[in-house]
Amino acid sequence: MEDCVFCKIIKGEIPSEKVYEDEEVLAFKDIQPAAPIHILVIPKKHIANLLEVQEEDSYLISHIYQVINKIAKKLEIEKEGFRVIVNCGKDAGQEVMHVHFHMLAGRKLGAKIVG
Ligand code: 5GP
Ligand code: ZN
Repeated sequence: MEDCVFCKIIKGEIPSEKVYEDEEVLAFKDIQPAAPIHILVIPKKHIANLLEVQEEDSYLISHIYQVINKIAKKLEIEKEGFRVIVNCGKDAGQEVMHVHFHMLAGRKLGAKIVG
């Protein structure tokens, strides 16, 4: 998608600090980290949000969780733990309309982390 910030990051038109990449998925550091470790994991396929996920994307979504698993081990946060968040729509405060999985770690996360 032409005007999508995350598609531009995938294409390398906007720089990012990558932590993982394969043919289908990219993970990079959030520009405004909400925790000491804040990674965004995204499919390279442009999917606006969770509501747009189709049955045919089942493999991709499952693969994203495998990637999250790998990143947790790579960053050695698997023991202390981490949180995965997907915001969908206005009330959740979704700002970028390209589905993304936030990985938050590196500090004790409160019961409520989003307002
Ligand atoms: P949302 O609120 O849509 O769930 O999360 C969007 C996230 O993307 C925010 O945490 C924001 O800091 C991050 N973000 C927005 N633009 C950029 C960018 O150009 N580069 C990076 N690395 N992160 C971005
Ligand atoms: Zn996109």
